[in-house]
Amino acid sequence: MRTDNSTTHEALIRFLYQAPIGLLQTTPDGEITMINPMSAQLLMPLAADGDLTNLFDVLDPIAPDLRRTAATFMGPDGMICDDRRLTLPARVCGGGGARTLSLSLLKLDSMTLMASLSDVTHAVQQEQQRIATRVRDAARTDALTALPNRTVVVERIAVAIDRARADPDYQFAVMLINCDRFNHVNVTHGTGVGDELLKMMAGRINSSIRSGDALALNGQPHHTTGRLGGDEFVVVLESLRQAEDVHVVAQRLLDALAKPYGIGAHQLHAGASMGVVLRAQTDDDAELVLQFAGIAMRDAKRAGGARYSVFDLAMKERAQRRGTVESDLRRALEERQLYVVYQPIVRLPDQRCVSVEALVRWRHPTRGVVPPIEFIEVAEDTGLIGPIGDFVLQESARQLARWQSALGTDAPQTMSVNVSRAQLAEADLVSRVHHALTVNRLQPRMLQLEITESLAAQDDVIKTRLSELKALGVLIALDDFGTGYSSLACLHQMPVDVVKIDRSFVSQAETSPHHVVLIEATVRVAQSLGMSTVAEGIETAGQAALLARLACDKGQGYLFGRPLPADEATAWLLARCGLDAPPARALSRAG
Ligand code: C2E
Ligand code: MG
Ligand code: MG
Repeated sequence: MRTDNSTTHEALIRFLYQAPIGLLQTTPDGEITMINPMSAQLLMPLAADGDLTNLFDVLDPIAPDLRRTAATFMGPDGMICDDRRLTLPARVCGGGGARTLSLSLLKLDSMTLMASLSDVTHAVQQEQQRIATRVRDAARTDALTALPNRTVVVERIAVAIDRARADPDYQFAVMLINCDRFNHVNVTHGTGVGDELLKMMAGRINSSIRSGDALALNGQPHHTTGRLGGDEFVVVLESLRQAEDVHVVAQRLLDALAKPYGIGAHQLHAGASMGVVLRAQTDDDAELVLQFAGIAMRDAKRAGGARYSVFDLAMKERAQRRGTVESDLRRALEERQLYVVYQPIVRLPDQRCVSVEALVRWRHPTRGVVPPIEFIEVAEDTGLIGPIGDFVLQESARQLARWQSALGTDAPQTMSVNVSRAQLAEADLVSRVHHALTVNRLQPRMLQLEITESLAAQDDVIKTRLSELKALGVLIALDDFGTGYSSLACLHQMPVDVVKIDRSFVSQAETSPHHVVLIEATVRVAQSLGMSTVAEGIETAGQAALLARLACDKGQGYLFGRPLPADEATAWLLARCGLDAPPARALSRAG
């Protein structure tokens, strides 16, 4: 009968031999005194000629320092690990490709080392995969909002396009959202508040898209909310139930984004504009769909913001035309195809020319003379308005100086120059204006800058610029008054000296009592605020007489003179020198 001891020993030996990890025993020099089959299997691909006599020799190609490290480890004073254990992972290239072994050495006593060996290839691969996934996720996620980024958005659009190609009934929509006042928030409250605003917008967009907006595919409703960068977000609605749903979703999103944002002590109003592309209109690639959504979004902004616009073919054509205008316009600047025309502004009681408005023209090599309405907007969008505006400013200031030296007191007293939003946003506008005045030896009050009504009421950057210009001493005129969204009640808040009543009021004055009342009210309010008034687009003697009767100070329009190139304007002015009389007749006849 065997003792319990020998049974235990036998069981241990059996375990040793069958264990799924490699176990071996060596001398301090690495001579193998016991080895189990798993160790032999793991070490054999490394052993030259199948020689498994010495562990350190076998492992030398992949762990050349092992012998030295183990010697230190075995030294009486120089233990390197408190628990007298040493672990090293080592890559082994064998028949089945690269594998990773993990080796642990344990000092049993001064003459014996126990080694355990295991194949950790799988665990290492898994860890590497986890790291790769984390890196890939980071490359696909927007760090600020944790939303999917542009890469993911483009992928999702591409998937939707592929499905749409295969299935004519399949509907999807891409919505590009842009904050209406992000720059303002950033400039006024700092980028920290700006970042917070973006995070809140991301949250609102996400929670406004309901699972019911898209059909469930594989149990998962398919929509992606992503951030393209800056203040631009995208929603891809895949598998729309019906194209009409997009209008409901778009309005719901805009309503959610228009609500005030409580950030710290601030209550901010931001709002957003949106461009929508519906699958039905495009077979193009994902990048192009985003471009189209951008065009529609800018269309929504131009229409006043806080709305959505659905991309259509007319928009595409307009965008293409704008593209041509842009490249032609760049050449126009280089080749000096732009020039300035001048339109007189007369004092209404006596029709004496007291001022002139400078208006830009483009002599296009094939299209002939192009009016500003066809290129100013493109120039604004592309930054070309800076050099164009500066050209008009410097050129017209020089022209006024010429007239003043040639005509003396008969010369116009002021030159009126239109200034656009993009110009007002530029910090060097004030120095450009100063330069135009000083090189031409003009008094600041001889220059009048015309801004549109919507501009004057706008953000703080523009308000600051206007007050800088006023400090310089130039006059500010509110152009096209009546067409914007501010009202007479707001006039007192605007830093302006002159109000120009829009042509649409003047042209109806003779037939619409309602317009007469509005003009009269405008003149009264302006006068009470110390501002003077100009009626734009006077074409008939009747309109001139009526406006004079309503106490409007000045008039501008084809009746008095069309915009003329400099030399023709000079001839016009010379012909008028000393002639004050005829208008009285015209006025009395119409009156
Ligand atoms: P605006 O500043 O209101 O200029 C008046 C516009 O009305 C001019 O059109 C002028 O030719 C036109 N007009 C004047 N009297 C009459 C009239 O009796 N009847 C009619 N039907 N029209 C009249 P224009 O020159 O085509 O300019 C259009 C707009 O383009 C200007 O409106 C202004 O907003 C912009 N613009 C023109 N030149 C410049 C410029 O140098 N810079 C900027 N930023 N904008 C400019
Ligand atoms: Mg004007
Ligand atoms: Mg105007």
